[in-house]
Amino acid sequence: MKLIFCPHCQDVFKLQINEMRYCKCGKSYGQYTDNINAEINKEAIPIGFSNSTFIYALLNRPETGLGKEFCAFVIPNHCESIKIIED
Ligand SMILES: [Zn+2]
Repeated sequence: MKLIFCPHCQDVFKLQINEMRYCKCGKSYGQYTDNINAEINKEAIPIGFSNSTFIYALLNRPETGLGKEFCAFVIPNHCESIKIIED
């Protein structure tokens, strides 16, 4: 699952297919163009959730104590499935 982080307002949100979404301040935006590929503007920092570990954590949510960890990562500057679009 791809999300973007805005370094200006710290919003983090999931991209949608063919629906451009914007952060709170409006400086970062992006969308999926199909199930794998996305386009974002240059301000946005793409992050990813490891789907399998995220689903496992959701299904194993603890009642108390520490939360259930899952794997998230910052996507590299150069990534074949993400196109940078111009403002
Ligand atoms: Zn923002």
